[in-house]
Amino acid sequence: MYCQNCGAKIEDSVNICPFCGFSNEGDNELTQKDLKIQELQEKITELEQTVSNTTVNENDRGFNNKKMFAFIFILPMAFLVFFFVLFFILANR
Ligand SMILES: [Zn+2]
Repeated sequence: MYCQNCGAKIEDSVNICPFCGFSNEGDNELTQKDLKIQELQEKITELEQTVSNTTVNENDRGFNNKKMFAFIFILPMAFLVFFFVLFFILANR
């Protein structure tokens, strides 16, 4: 193989170039590690997006529950008060 730094022909078994001292195999390992780190960072980003989406969905559910609570309790209460007022108005005539 050829040195990635100076281009000199070196033996495959020799990882460090005898001409410039450049570590060819070490550089390849670093590149592979960099690729793995990039993959992990992408996965972390995906997980962060999933977590943030889940949090938003939970907030939506909480908002919907509050809406349901309002419809189930506040709306009948309003009708009850309305009919009580109507009843007293009709009774006082
Ligand atoms: Zn070299």
